[in-house]
Amino acid sequence: MTAGPTIGVLALQGAFREHLRLLTGLGATATAVRTPDEIAAVTALVLPGGESTAMSRLAVDLGVLDPLREAIARGVPAFGTCAGMILLADHLLDPRSDQRQVGGLRLTVRRNAFGRQVESFEAPVAMPAIGSPDYPAVFIRAPWVEESGPGVEVLGTVRRTDPSGAAADRIVAVRQDRILATAFHPELTADDRLHRLFLTMIEED
Ligand code: GLN
Repeated sequence: MTAGPTIGVLALQGAFREHLRLLTGLGATATAVRTPDEIAAVTALVLPGGESTAMSRLAVDLGVLDPLREAIARGVPAFGTCAGMILLADHLLDPRSDQRQVGGLRLTVRRNAFGRQVESFEAPVAMPAIGSPDYPAVFIRAPWVEESGPGVEVLGTVRRTDPSGAAADRIVAVRQDRILATAFHPELTADDRLHRLFLTMIEED
């Protein structure tokens, strides 16, 4: 019998427990990772929502930024949610000056994009990749994708109205090869379709 994949959930800060609970509930083997060795040992990675500047600082302090970069460069499947999407993006708008990227995802992401007035909201996101109904997406000081590069498939956009119109139809879910990323927090809802999609991506040859 061959061992199935082990999914490492980056557990520096943020909503890692929620990802672990969802993945375990789906029958996957998932474990918290916070050291270089732990990161090197897993076959897939989840970067949770939380606070990307805090996560980046801890990643540098604990020496896991390079191991994370190496894992992504090796093609280890990864799922980044909210702050996790921010960490995976190649380019960041409105970063903190000392903020560092794991990178690998050909995106330009804007932090805290939906603005102060709507720091948190829930909105349905139509995502053909997971079928109907629309995904009930929870956004908390969420980023959006300002620009996506070659090979990035847009999985969903959110329709918001704001006085300036800046928030209309922004990209909030993407896939690039075996990297999945959402600007919202699928780990904070009971709808497990995105985690199931990630599990199928891990199994792909
Ligand atoms: N605004 C946060 C950041 O910059 C992300 C928010 C989240 O993960 N809920 O990291």
